[in-house]
Amino acid sequence: MSEDCIFCQIVNGEIPARTVYEDDDVLAFLDANPLAPGHTLVIPKEHRETLDEVPPEPGEMMFAAIHYLTPIVEDVVDADATNIGFNNGEAAGQEVPHVHGHIIPRFEGDGGQP
Ligand code: 5GP
Ligand code: ZN
Repeated sequence: MSEDCIFCQIVNGEIPARTVYEDDDVLAFLDANPLAPGHTLVIPKEHRETLDEVPPEPGEMMFAAIHYLTPIVEDVVDADATNIGFNNGEAAGQEVPHVHGHIIPRFEGDGGQP
């Protein structure tokens, strides 16, 4: 837990979020400023800033959650595909310094950038 981390505060229920999946290691919730309907963030519950700091087991659980959730997210919003990715480090556009994977639904002809 990092006191001033908004994603740790979401894990602890101090900031509300629309949870879509939770287990002992991982939490997934809807992005507050979605790039598309159903834009979902998947995080390890333990605070780690970047992917290299995540131990193997929670890393595997996070990937398993992304693998499990992606077709569900696609079905719920009737998407044609998804962008899945990590902004890993500030220079790569990571704004929240708690590791998170993005699941971003895409639609034929949406013309959007992830
Ligand atoms: P990054 O640029 O760090 O990869 O993405 C951070 C993401 O977190 C952004 O898509 C942003 O909309 C989302 N976000 C930032 N603050 C909050 C919050 O308090 N709640 C939720 N649900 N999402 C947030
Ligand atoms: Zn955190």
